[in-house]
Amino acid sequence: MSSSVIDFIATEARFGARNYEPIGVVLSRGEGVWVWDTEDNRYLDCLSAYSAVSQGHCHPKILAAMVEQAHRLTLTSRAFHNDQLALFYEEIAALTGSHKVLPMNSGAEAVESAIKSVRKWGYEVKGVPDGQAEIIVCANNFHGRTLGVVGFSTDPETRGHFGPFAPGFKVIPFGNAATLAEAINPNTVAFLVEPIQGEAGVVIPPAGYFTEVRELCTANNVMLVLDEIQTGLGRTGKLLAEQHEGIEADVTLLGKALSGGFYPVSAVLSNNDVLGTLRPGQHGSTFGGNPLACAVARAAMRVLVEEGMIENAASQGARFLEGLKDIRANTIREVRGRGLMLAVELHPEAGRARRYCEALQGKGILAKDTHEHTIRIAPPLVITSDQVDWALERFAAILTQDFS
Ligand SMILES: *Cc1c(COP(=O)(O)O)cnc(C)c1O
Repeated sequence: MSSSVIDFIATEARFGARNYEPIGVVLSRGEGVWVWDTEDNRYLDCLSAYSAVSQGHCHPKILAAMVEQAHRLTLTSRAFHNDQLALFYEEIAALTGSHKVLPMNSGAEAVESAIKSVRKWGYEVKGVPDGQAEIIVCANNFHGRTLGVVGFSTDPETRGHFGPFAPGFKVIPFGNAATLAEAINPNTVAFLVEPIQGEAGVVIPPAGYFTEVRELCTANNVMLVLDEIQTGLGRTGKLLAEQHEGIEADVTLLGKALSGGFYPVSAVLSNNDVLGTLRPGQHGSTFGGNPLACAVARAAMRVLVEEGMIENAASQGARFLEGLKDIRANTIREVRGRGLMLAVELHPEAGRARRYCEALQGKGILAKDTHEHTIRIAPPLVITSDQVDWALERFAAILTQDFS
């Protein structure tokens, strides 16, 4: 390692809060599926900033839209109208088939905004007594890092010593509709769930789960809130992961790839009157819906569709999954995935996934472990067949070694 690499890492360690434990690589440039470190070593990005860079690093059309808008107007606040927000609304509504849109910034803010909205809907439309609204969530959920959100996490690392937390959440197992039926009561306003649990290790529910969930929510007048911040916008090979079961959420949360990784942009989408209960002054964000964010998001959505990235995620995801399944290695416990949201779960005896990610780095691949034993694989949706095959060769070389 050259001194410059050591300097970046040591300086971060000296001054920064140690709330991350990054792989030891210092990146300085990116293009498409590739990133380069400060010494000009090239890596295939198999994390895509937790799926935020789905359109590929520094996509030229999103970049152009950002630069053009930055020259004209960046922030007005919502105290005034701007000439990008209406176009953003129109385009995201057309793309997703939604009726109402609430623009925010980070994913966690979209989750918080949805929680506020469904509670308000519960009191003002469903008729739940004030202060009694309940939201059902799943064990091993990941919905972000704000206090409201970590309060209903089941991960001791995520919630430990951050309390006291807000009440009003009930936790059930993921992937079991019968437990949802039991958990619903007259005060239940929403079921908040990820279509595929990403941070939990790419956990795909049994087929038919969301069809049953949809029926239960409809029958009990409970809003189905799908957190598609990671699964949405093509990641799983469909625009929205809900389409794999042909259902429609009442409230859909998008973030991450909504800006192609250029800027924090998130949105709450609703198909009914949930967002309609918000009146002026009751919710807001200084940066939410700003013209720069809107211009970037419009370009990010446009290239996703125009450049066939969703279809590419489906076909390359299938190729990647098949290739991973073909690797004969006794380190591998299970390979799973949908579209380009993939994971290799290692046998506990095979050693920590982190060691495999570090070895992959040496082969020119950046991937991230999640929990002890799972390697998550989520490259940009612009990946080609040749690049998938290139990656598979390297995964095979590493996974057949033993790092225990
Ligand atoms: C990343 C993520 C979030 C939080 O998004 P931030 O932008 O980090 O606040 C919420 N839900 C899911 C499913 C996510 O993957």
